[in-house]
Amino acid sequence: MACVLVVEDKAENLELMVYLLNAFGHEALVARDGAEGVAVVSQERPDLVVMDLQMPVMDGYEAAALIRADPELSCIPLVAVTAYAMVGDRERIMAAGFDGYLTKPIDPEVFVRDLERHLAPGGPGPGARAPAQEG
Ligand code: MN
Repeated sequence: MACVLVVEDKAENLELMVYLLNAFGHEALVARDGAEGVAVVSQERPDLVVMDLQMPVMDGYEAAALIRADPELSCIPLVAVTAYAMVGDRERIMAAGFDGYLTKPIDPEVFVRDLERHLAPGGPGPGARAPAQEG
């Protein structure tokens, strides 16, 4: 079991991701914009963060950059969720510090499994970050 923070401004997407994580035995924390997400990451140190890109107050790119800039938090895997994966987006997402991304609509069949690829094998922990998965 891992503790996963879901940062998403759309209630139905947030609820779906939390439901799926819980169904697969993971604990889920929630935040509804990037600023709240950064605050929860800093306070709770989740094992993984899944984050929407388009959000009010602070978007996912800025939130990811802030998390990556903090040496205490920079080892936490970050996975983006985006409805738009157009030419150049992948580069922008990876440049912001994300380890990978998933595209919306969320596929309940593979969502948790895809996230779990970003968790360290044998359980999460400081310095135990899994190598970034390509694709
Ligand atoms: Mn959004």
